[in-house]
Amino acid sequence: MKALTWQGTDDLSVEQLPDPAMRNEQDAIVKVSRTVTCGSDLHLLGGYIPFMRAGDVLGHEFIGEVVETGPRVKRHKVGDRVVVCSFISCGHCWYCKEGLFSLCDNGNTNPGITEHLWAPTGSSPSTASSTAWK
Ligand SMILES: [Zn+2]
Ligand SMILES: [Zn+2]
Repeated sequence: MKALTWQGTDDLSVEQLPDPAMRNEQDAIVKVSRTVTCGSDLHLLGGYIPFMRAGDVLGHEFIGEVVETGPRVKRHKVGDRVVVCSFISCGHCWYCKEGLFSLCDNGNTNPGITEHLWAPTGSSPSTASSTAWK
């Protein structure tokens, strides 16, 4: 696939990358048909986010078509046209059950990279009962 990548402050590049792969049973892979930029992209572009690394893929607000689903995906099927929310949530952790989807314990596939910026993950009231989607 082709993707818009961050190469450094004010330096973007379209690169050929491997196609995405399923990581979890509740994942869906969406073929992007339209995407936009938003204010948070400007923070990334300007170099204000310290965990950005050269080659990171940009674009978190988009529409497209579902091309693959994991066995636990129940509400979408291949061929569905979807609008993708700008944050990923599992729908099962304490935060998701409280409707606080942007705070999902399982939305970031690599939460360790943000711990030094905000706080250790896994400290929510759901720690003992949440499911780690790995
Ligand atoms: Zn955004
Ligand atoms: Zn969640």
